[in-house]
Amino acid sequence: MGYYSALRVLREGLTGNRGWKPLWREPDPKAAYDVIVIGGGGHGLSTAYYLAGTFGLTRVAVLEKGWLGSGNIGRNTTIIRSNYLLPGNEPFYELSMKLWEGLEQELNYNAMVSQRGIINLYHSDTQRDAYARRGNAIRLAGADAILLDQEGVRAQYPQLDFDNARFPIKGGLWQPRAGTARHDAVAWGYARGADARGVDIIQNCEVTGFLFEDGVCRGVDTRRGSIRADKVAVCVAGSSSRVMAQAGIRLPLESHVLQAFVSEGLKPLIPGVITFGMGHFYISQSDKGGLVFGGDIDGYNTYAQRGNLPTIEDVCEGGMALMPMIGRARLLRMWGGVMDMTMDGSPIIDKTPVPGLYFNGGWCYGGFKATPASGFCFAHLLARDEPHPVAAAYRLDRFRTGALIDEKGAGAQPNLH
Ligand SMILES: Cc1cc2nc3c(=O)[nH]c(=O)nc-3n(C[C@H](O)[C@H](O)[C@H](O)COP(=O)(O)OP(=O)(O)OC[C@H]3O[C@@H](n4cnc5c(N)ncnc54)[C@H](O)[C@@H]3O)c2cc1C
Repeated sequence: MGYYSALRVLREGLTGNRGWKPLWREPDPKAAYDVIVIGGGGHGLSTAYYLAGTFGLTRVAVLEKGWLGSGNIGRNTTIIRSNYLLPGNEPFYELSMKLWEGLEQELNYNAMVSQRGIINLYHSDTQRDAYARRGNAIRLAGADAILLDQEGVRAQYPQLDFDNARFPIKGGLWQPRAGTARHDAVAWGYARGADARGVDIIQNCEVTGFLFEDGVCRGVDTRRGSIRADKVAVCVAGSSSRVMAQAGIRLPLESHVLQAFVSEGLKPLIPGVITFGMGHFYISQSDKGGLVFGGDIDGYNTYAQRGNLPTIEDVCEGGMALMPMIGRARLLRMWGGVMDMTMDGSPIIDKTPVPGLYFNGGWCYGGFKATPASGFCFAHLLARDEPHPVAAAYRLDRFRTGALIDEKGAGAQPNLH
């Protein structure tokens, strides 16, 4: 793996760019591995990277049914943050934020991590109180949060509709260290790092079943033949219920579609990330100038990576309520991704009832920001057979025991989280 540096870019530029190599090899699957990771999205690739880099397991394969980045890792709106309320969540997401902060140096790869800040707007006194509580919880956990009044928000975003809006903006909860990262570059960076540490990344290799011996998971069946492994780690996000059904396991989650939208390129307008407090609408601006925004999931169960028009109207209404001038921007592109929505809106990183089979999923629509910590904690579980302390609450059996992590307080209904 060649080391990337400004000097290297200069040298390649002067010599016809003939020295660049592919970021990862294209190996054929071997007969057996220590660990097979199913799913070449962000979480699968980061798991493999930390397994090989931090925990010293190098007989590792990532099996991806399509191409790297074809799932949600290449479809999200790129927001990273650690502004969670509950003690089951906040330390995990703060670990992720700390890993984001050193990620590009560690991977020697430009993932365009940009700590441009996020502001969650509030529009009523009760919402302000709830955000003050959340901000205090974030700060008690050692992360950053600042409660802004209306003037504080106006200083950053004078173009928002403060005065004539149906839901006037009263202030916001600001996390300055939050921001955005380039989604597919995160997958490529982890893939490059994992490959350099000996991980086999095998694309176009769909897992179609599991190998069991005496009730223990001993490998997988794929479209390229059977592959044995001591441990099998499932990281397939929106396909979780379908893949785990092949092992006879029914998961406490539903799959829903979430759409994202990008406008035509505009001059710099939105320096950070903003979320609307009286509807579900969030927006940032890409380095190319496109407004990147989204809102609610479509609200019906589906495995289709495409959504429907009523949700587009709903999202655009949220944008208009916040900043009416957005109605003048033209929509350039939109797409959908399949979300693995759990009953309480929080993820699962755990062993399963089947020895040798491990599960990572239920990321709902917040799993991109979790990519580094998810991989790190899942690798910890796989290598040591015990949960990492910050992910200890993400148990599969919490839906049976009642130890739910209901961050949003929406109750046991996946489409409301
Ligand atoms: C529109 C949209 C906006 C979002 N915005 C944000 C955001 O701003 N911030 C945030 O934190 N999160 C966001 N998310 C959520 C985030 O993208 C996901 O939670 C996260 O990417 C899921 O983990 P992943 O990257 O591993 O998933 P994926 O990239 O989907 O990886 C799973 C992989 O498993 C593969 N697979 C499936 N079945 C099999 C099989 N049988 N065999 C082999 N491989 C298989 C798939 O092909 C896929 O590549 C958003 C998601 C969407 C769709």
